[in-house]
Amino acid sequence: MSLPPCDVAVVGAGAVGAACAYFAASAGHRVTVVDRGAIASGTSSACEGNILVSDKEAGPELDLALYSLQVWLTDLAEYGELWEFEAKGGLVVTATERGFAAASELIARHRARGINVEDVDATGLRDLEPHLNPAIAAGAYYPQDAQVQPMLLVAHLLRLARERGACVLTGAEVTGFRRERDRVVGVRTSRGDLAAGAVVNAAGTWAGEVARLAGVSVPVLPRRGFVLVTERLRATVRHKVYAAEYVSDVASSDEALQSSPVVEGTPAGTILIGATRERTGFDRAFSPAAVARLARGALALFPVLASVHVMRSYLGFRPYCPDHLPIIGPDPRAPGLWHACGHEGAGIGLSVGTGSLLAQALSADATALDLAPFAPDRFAEDR
Ligand SMILES: Cc1cc2nc3c(=O)[nH]c(=O)nc-3n(C[C@H](O)[C@H](O)[C@H](O)COP(=O)(O)OP(=O)(O)OC[C@H]3O[C@@H](n4cnc5c(N)ncnc54)[C@H](O)[C@@H]3O)c2cc1C
Repeated sequence: MSLPPCDVAVVGAGAVGAACAYFAASAGHRVTVVDRGAIASGTSSACEGNILVSDKEAGPELDLALYSLQVWLTDLAEYGELWEFEAKGGLVVTATERGFAAASELIARHRARGINVEDVDATGLRDLEPHLNPAIAAGAYYPQDAQVQPMLLVAHLLRLARERGACVLTGAEVTGFRRERDRVVGVRTSRGDLAAGAVVNAAGTWAGEVARLAGVSVPVLPRRGFVLVTERLRATVRHKVYAAEYVSDVASSDEALQSSPVVEGTPAGTILIGATRERTGFDRAFSPAAVARLARGALALFPVLASVHVMRSYLGFRPYCPDHLPIIGPDPRAPGLWHACGHEGAGIGLSVGTGSLLAQALSADATALDLAPFAPDRFAEDR
């Protein structure tokens, strides 16, 4: 059976695939999104929704974060309420010398890049976060950090894409690629063949498997993370608050369990407590050790949480790339195949910049940001 042909087939209906679909459809392409599950059934429904500049190392990822922020605040500004966009700001706090040294160097690089960072003393910390542990004496406030609700983001971006002519096909697993000589000309799915001028691999943590079906490799691996969700409270935590050690955990490639506290409130009143990182494959087993470290870390920042109930925990698999940069752009090893994957722990924040840039490239326009650092064939084994 054949499905109606399209210009752009997007594999994956997570935040990244939805953003690619929205911007490609807005640019006039006929788009079909295929996902083997439901929409947002991958990592985009097992994460938090932070949109951060504060944790990005200066360089291509920070450039993409700043470009994405611009897209959130301009192209998508009118839709912000749909996905609970909240420009709440991020507060990085430091309790140890190790954390302070790492934070001050990064803050200096951020300032050099023009990012607004405000030093906060003990009194300022109490004004921003009245329940913060009084033992914490210094911090930095990033007013540009923001937050969205990821599942609402995916649902509404796909709805907006459909209003621009896109089709969304769920329960359709991509099982192979259609080829004409070297060129990729569509995908084979469990619901039929789909002819497409271009195929975008937005399969998140599973992007390596999809790429392999096209005969190329992209080194995307799962990096597991747990999150705790508390009962609803009233404005106990006002910003995204995290310990400076979080930044070095994000940048590390260690396979062992890492945990540094990240605590934030949501519009629903719950508090989300992250974030662990470990490379354990696709193991979905509950880890008491990881969750206990999350709870201890949160209490170190907000002792007031000691009497608060945790409602549930969940886990997700970040799409990790060895150099901590996503893979965005055309794949010269399989013309017609494009990638938008490997965003690790930042795929919600970076989704809209990625989708916008990919649509520019698909339309053969000059891209607002150089895609070279994100090239799919940049990894040594492929060269
Ligand atoms: C605990 C945790 C906290 C996080 N917090 C944040 C945060 O605060 N801010 C942030 O920006 N990011 C965060 N992230 C990272 C973020 O969740 C991911 O980077 C992002 O969700 C990736 O989106 P995606 O669209 O690339 O992938 P996904 O959402 O995983 O979507 C990929 C889709 O591809 C589909 N698929 C796979 N294989 C096939 C196939 N063969 N055929 C058809 N469909 C297929 C899957 O079903 C899936 O729906 C967090 C992640 C975790 C685990």
